[in-house]
Amino acid sequence: MSDTPGTLDQFDIKGRSALVTGAASGIGLAYAEAMAEAGAKVTITDIDAEGAAREADRLSHEGYEVRWDTVDVSDLEQVARAFDHHVKAYGGCDIAFANAGLDVGDGFWSPEDKRHPDGQIDVYSKDKWDKSIAINLTGVFHTVREAARVMKANEANGYRRGGSIVITSSNAAEVNEAIVGVPYMAAKAGVKHFMRHSAYELAAFGIRVNAIAPGPFVTNIGDGWVKKNPKAKEAWDKLVPVGRMAETYQIKPLALLLASDAGSYMTGAHVMIDGGMQLGPIKPL
Ligand code: NAD
Repeated sequence: MSDTPGTLDQFDIKGRSALVTGAASGIGLAYAEAMAEAGAKVTITDIDAEGAAREADRLSHEGYEVRWDTVDVSDLEQVARAFDHHVKAYGGCDIAFANAGLDVGDGFWSPEDKRHPDGQIDVYSKDKWDKSIAINLTGVFHTVREAARVMKANEANGYRRGGSIVITSSNAAEVNEAIVGVPYMAAKAGVKHFMRHSAYELAAFGIRVNAIAPGPFVTNIGDGWVKKNPKAKEAWDKLVPVGRMAETYQIKPLALLLASDAGSYMTGAHVMIDGGMQLGPIKPL
């Protein structure tokens, strides 16, 4: 026992550093809080500069070491610049969350499974398709690309070798989630396989890559789906075997597991946190 790290010690990320995309709200903000609470130095990045600044200020006032940067993940140069700023501030990068994402809408859905006409494939807007793919899929490629670049350089910079990259996928990568719309499921399924390839390639460099696949969480995106169809919450509460949508605090322990040495033998995993939704809806007997 004595030569191996203790169970709780493996979750220790004190002194490490983490960059999170899409961290001004929702799941990304929960990741940033989890990293800060566990002792890491954090960069909050988001296209929403005001939100990123607000949350970084709040966490700094609470005594955590948190900075922020404005980043549109669909722009490779902005992503690269944010990682360079992070390394300049903290000396290296141990943890990166490729989280930013959005729902472009029109995936209207009802408990009777009626789709909104604008959400049908044969009339689907190409602009919406392009926007969703640019952020939900290409944005993840940009983030993983730049995380790998700085993490490969960690050791040469006199910093800790390697790192951990965590991508936010979705249960929509695995199951048909009609409410999220045509391009979202394609993007998230692409994210899943890109994660697997990245994990395979980067393992030799001490860099692990995993994905968290949430089910319905109460966030701006989750609320948006509910606002578009007020029956969605009621339906989800029925569809999810545990009987409710999730709160963002519930994703924090999983984020810490994958980010820290506690997940040292995990790479290439697509981890569902969906209240059992992939098991299929609960059907009345
Ligand atoms: P959210 O809207 O609360 O957070 C998304 C954040 O990403 C926002 O702060 C937004 O400003 C930011 N963002 C949007 N476009 C961006 C861009 N181009 N560049 C940088 N930042 C950008 O929603 P959320 O639910 O927390 O979403 C986070 C991730 O979780 C997304 O990838 C989403 O697809 C995924 N997800 C959410 C749910 C859910 O039910 N909420 C389920 C499965 C997956």
